[in-house]
Amino acid sequence: MTFKDLGLVKPILQALEKKGYTNPTPIQKQAIPILLGGKDLLGVAQTGTGKTAAFAIPIIQQILLDKDRGIRRRRIRSLVVTPTRELAIQIADNFTAYAANTNVNNTVIFGGVKQGRQVEALRKGVDVLVATPGRLLDLIGQGIISLKHIEYFVLDEADQMLDMGFIHDIRKLLAILPAKRQSLFFSATMPPSIVKLSNQILGDYKRVTIEPEQTTAERVEQFVYFVNKRNKIKLLIDLIQTQKPETVLVFSRTKHGADKVVKLLLRAEIEAAAIHGNKSQNARQRALGNFKNGKVQVLVATDIAARGIDVSGLEMVVNYDLPNVPETYVHRIGRTGRAKASGVALSFCMGEEKPYLRDIQKLINQKLTVVADNPYEDDGSEDEVEQSKPQQRRRPNSQGRKKNSRNSRNASFSNKSSNSRSSDRNRSKPKRRKKD
Ligand code: AMP
Repeated sequence: MTFKDLGLVKPILQALEKKGYTNPTPIQKQAIPILLGGKDLLGVAQTGTGKTAAFAIPIIQQILLDKDRGIRRRRIRSLVVTPTRELAIQIADNFTAYAANTNVNNTVIFGGVKQGRQVEALRKGVDVLVATPGRLLDLIGQGIISLKHIEYFVLDEADQMLDMGFIHDIRKLLAILPAKRQSLFFSATMPPSIVKLSNQILGDYKRVTIEPEQTTAERVEQFVYFVNKRNKIKLLIDLIQTQKPETVLVFSRTKHGADKVVKLLLRAEIEAAAIHGNKSQNARQRALGNFKNGKVQVLVATDIAARGIDVSGLEMVVNYDLPNVPETYVHRIGRTGRAKASGVALSFCMGEEKPYLRDIQKLINQKLTVVADNPYEDDGSEDEVEQSKPQQRRRPNSQGRKKNSRNSRNASFSNKSSNSRSSDRNRSKPKRRKKD
């Protein structure tokens, strides 16, 4: 099936061609006809499945084909609400790309920056507004934004919205949105609270479910290292120095932890930057930009800041801390292996994180491959390690993960390459995946 078969108009088809998309992804195949038919949609899918295009394309086409649309006096016809600033920017970029050959325009608003420029863009008139909840309600309160003319409403990453405590903001929004509208509701997971919320938002809807856990788990090679807390940084540095991935996204549970990891990586002369909620929006964008353009090899992020980050060709995700919510693991490893690419996800698990590992494996219905004999393997005696002199470091076999097949339960560091620093140096770099 091609995009043409989905009944898309020429300007959109040409934009997709320019992006290099030939075939729609499963969610696009299923969602686009439903949305062009005017029905509401419940999309159970995570980022990485192509869901942004699945909702952006039909919205652009419907606005474009509306004969009553006055482009001199534009009114906000479509509102997309998403939890994080990074995700909002990404979604707006997608709208801009798919609508490049049309006069359907968009703007994006989010907190953490001055509102002046955003207000200026809004005053010029926009068809599609992509927003994070706080700034949106703020500008509505100031009388700068009116939702009176919304016909297409998208609530993106609904589960994350609730996790981040946005439920009251969403309720406020629902109270002012016009009742007659097409609603699109996306969530990676469907716990009861989300089902309840979707029932409040959706009218006559169709459901499309893309199994992210399975698709991600199949595409991404996943390994776990048992390592105690103080050795995690050594293991990370070692892996980066030996495996030489061009891009690594490291997840830390806390902002402070993320800063600390960056400091230690920089000390080891590894280019790294942190991205989390305590950083200004500009600092976050700069860090992300430098990561995307290759100036920074390692981005250390907290879950919230990294949500939805789309870095094409991201080679490696490291769970420096294991998440205590198993779904978060799926979101994290979904940052690599996007849109059919493959990637590798490494998890560092210390003794007290073992219950989290159990929950994760239960959710993904798969056991992570344990990298046995890693030089920093947790022997279960944190205190002893704290006091003992550092052991002579054995070099891990940096090819270890590649040698072992995805389902191998025996991934290991080999002694052969233990002492061979030069072989690491000479090894060719992993090829960067083609950008999309
Ligand atoms: P999303 O789930 O919307 O974040 O999209 C994940 C990635 O897939 C993004 O990099 C998109 O640009 C890319 N993508 C979306 N649709 C397609 C498609 N039909 N073919 C190839 N790549 C796509």
